Amino acid sequence: MSLAYETKIAESIHLLQELIGGKSLKVTLAFSHQNEDAINIALAQKAGIDFDVFTLETHKLFDESIAYEKEVEAFFGITIKRFSANDEAIKALEDKVGEYGIFDDIKLRKECCHVRKLIPLAQALDGYDGWISGIRIAQSVTRSETKLVEFDGKFELLKFNPLAHFSDEEVERYMRESAIPSNALYAKGFKSIGCKPCTRAIKEGEDIRAGRWWWENPEHKECGLHLHKEK
Ligand code: SF4
Repeated sequence: MSLAYETKIAESIHLLQELIGGKSLKVTLAFSHQNEDAINIALAQKAGIDFDVFTLETHKLFDESIAYEKEVEAFFGITIKRFSANDEAIKALEDKVGEYGIFDDIKLRKECCHVRKLIPLAQALDGYDGWISGIRIAQSVTRSETKLVEFDGKFELLKFNPLAHFSDEEVERYMRESAIPSNALYAKGFKSIGCKPCTRAIKEGEDIRAGRWWWENPEHKECGLHLHKEK
């Protein structure tokens, strides 16, 4: 039996209070320009915990996402820390992958995610006891094993997923009832937001992550940040 909406919110706030606030853990919250991240910020503020917020500057973001970062900073009164691979690493990647390599070869696509996302993520998580992520079970087959709290063996710290059990409708409901601003891309048909070359709007009836790496099979649709098993 699934929990009621209000119970899920209370459970998530309690989790943040008990496991992070109660143990004085040093945590950082991932902001990837999506509704889930904004809800996590709202829940963490309600929980009264100390937390930092970071985002990954891949240099491939939509203009709407960059604008949304500033909107979220103003709305919540926070500063988002930005992490990026260095210029040499980006240049070496671009020389190797070219303009279309990410579409032609999954290894090159994963290498692009590694340089633009994984390396900066490792920097963003360095020195923390845990991180807060917006991933949910309902998002995709690759996230079906998501738990509220897990140990992230890849980066060796705790990972909190307060929205693990939230449905798509519950995310939209929280945004609406709390009057939290959304990334303008949602109004343009995007349901999951990532880098510009690898994200498209979806059509009526399509899965919410159908617009991410749409040329790949569903089991490959991850950038490596949230994998439970390497694919
Ligand atoms: S999502 Fe696309 S552009 Fe962004 S890092 Fe991954 S492959 Fe590169």
